[in-house]
Amino acid sequence: MIAGVRKAVGAATPYVPGKTVEEVRRELGLQKIVKLGSNENPYGPFPAARRAMTEEIARINTYPDVSFHEIKSLIGERFGLGPEWVAISHGAEGMLQTLGKVFLEPGDEAILSRATYGLYREISLVMGATLKEIMLKDDLSVNLREMERAITGRTKLLWLNNPNNPTGMLLPKKSVENLAKRLPRGVWLVLDEAYAEFASPEELPSVAKLLEAECGLIVVRTFSKAWGLAGARIGYALARPEMVRIIDTVSEPFNANRIAIAGASASLKEDEAAFNQALAATVRERERVAKALRDMGGTTLPSHTNFLFVTFRADAGEVSVKLLRKGVIVRPCGGWGFGCSLRVTIGTPEQNDFFLEALRGVLSGDGEGGA
Ligand code: PMP
Repeated sequence: MIAGVRKAVGAATPYVPGKTVEEVRRELGLQKIVKLGSNENPYGPFPAARRAMTEEIARINTYPDVSFHEIKSLIGERFGLGPEWVAISHGAEGMLQTLGKVFLEPGDEAILSRATYGLYREISLVMGATLKEIMLKDDLSVNLREMERAITGRTKLLWLNNPNNPTGMLLPKKSVENLAKRLPRGVWLVLDEAYAEFASPEELPSVAKLLEAECGLIVVRTFSKAWGLAGARIGYALARPEMVRIIDTVSEPFNANRIAIAGASASLKEDEAAFNQALAATVRERERVAKALRDMGGTTLPSHTNFLFVTFRADAGEVSVKLLRKGVIVRPCGGWGFGCSLRVTIGTPEQNDFFLEALRGVLSGDGEGGA
């Protein structure tokens, strides 16, 4: 440890992002690279967002509107809530970091699933909290009952990703709603719905109702996935107005940039058609790719996201290295304890075909001595 650095910081490890196209090009000198490792949206940014962001460059010498009034109103409208129920952040990540700062101090406990988005763990550790990691159920769904049973007098936060990364599975709406309603006072459920747009709306918990009923709930969402703005870095939380005021106080003041706000606002106002088209294409391709993977001998989980979790009888780390040499970036799931599973983002039909063809080659051992 470097002298002077907080002890809790030493417990955390850096977030491991998916490989970028630039990195792979540099390392392997490949021309064609298909990135299906970071759950981005191949159809974004949508046309109105693109236009608005380009125009906004002219105003980049000035700070953004720190009240974020317009974007908060546009987001709120979608959930039947006023702008005072919305907090803006630099990606969902920024919001998760802020929530860590709002709630966690040394000695507190944070409960999370053993196989979920990695940042919850690191944020909790940096804040000096103790982790309680709950194993998935046998069907690989998040064990909500055990998460609830793990609550003690020291618990502050439950980090819950629904649908869950990396499995793509969705919890029954009622079980999430019941958990939110039963939380003891002072225990908060951070419900990360980064991929919620890819699920059927009627299968998602009714967050506005839960918030209005004063449940200890904070919902986190992002423009990075279904809205195709991952590089712009903008996310948000839905929470009760008194909690939004706390979040806004703890966040850095200008925690979303002009370009991101312009893009997200324009998309919410004018990109509905493009958004729906992209969503439909992703859902359609999700079914097609899942079937193709099963035809190759893989086992897939039911996905409610823009990625698939697939398991083969082969070392996924090796498979992913071989795929990389063929120009396909996917995410091996060994770090989550699934040594034979891959997480693969749903791309365009052409990208998906390129991936499936490469995988077929890897699994049949073409020129590489097998997977
Ligand atoms: N939550 C989950 C579950 C994610 O998978 C991701 C990104 N991979 C994030 C949050 C962070 O998203 P953002 O780009 O909005 O920071």
